[in-house]
Amino acid sequence: MKLSSMEKKIIEESIRDIKDFPKEGIVFKDITTLLNNKKAYGVLMNHLYQKYKERNLQYIAGIDARGFIFGAALAQMLQIGFVPIRKKGKLPYTTISEKYALEYGIDEIEVHIDAFGEEKGARVLIIDDLIATGGTANAAATLVKQTGAVCVECCFIIGLTFLDGIKKLEQKTQVYSVIEVN
Ligand code: AMP
Repeated sequence: MKLSSMEKKIIEESIRDIKDFPKEGIVFKDITTLLNNKKAYGVLMNHLYQKYKERNLQYIAGIDARGFIFGAALAQMLQIGFVPIRKKGKLPYTTISEKYALEYGIDEIEVHIDAFGEEKGARVLIIDDLIATGGTANAAATLVKQTGAVCVECCFIIGLTFLDGIKKLEQKTQVYSVIEVN
């Protein structure tokens, strides 16, 4: 299920570029202008539904925090469960966690140990708004595997192809970006 060039344009034009946020040299892709545009948000969510409805998924795992918005909506459309992968210290029950490198320092994400059910092998789609270096998504895929579930694919609304995050993540799992930014 491919996006038409018109649909792609609607989504692309709804995303706002903010230069030098949160610091100089970064072009921040602002998806709030996609979310408040009912046509663009609708085109995007319908595309994701059509793309994933026959993949036999059991859970969508959304990455803190913008991955929750797309992931929770898609999980409802697919009539499957939603699992939040959160920054350290936010989840109340027993968790497993994974550290990953940032430009300066490290960060850590975690997931509830029982989030993907008691049986091993649940089929999971990971979703986030954007992949840059791929550090966050890589840690998320590691976490999903550590619970005994299967990461079927990682899905991003925006893929920054001038960084090598997508290539690195592809060594671990399938990767799909709705929009590519070169
Ligand atoms: P990374 O781990 O480097 O792939 O970074 C991905 C995470 O950082 C995602 O959760 C994004 O929301 C956020 N992020 C990184 N770069 C940008 C950017 N240029 N615009 C918006 N969000 C970004």
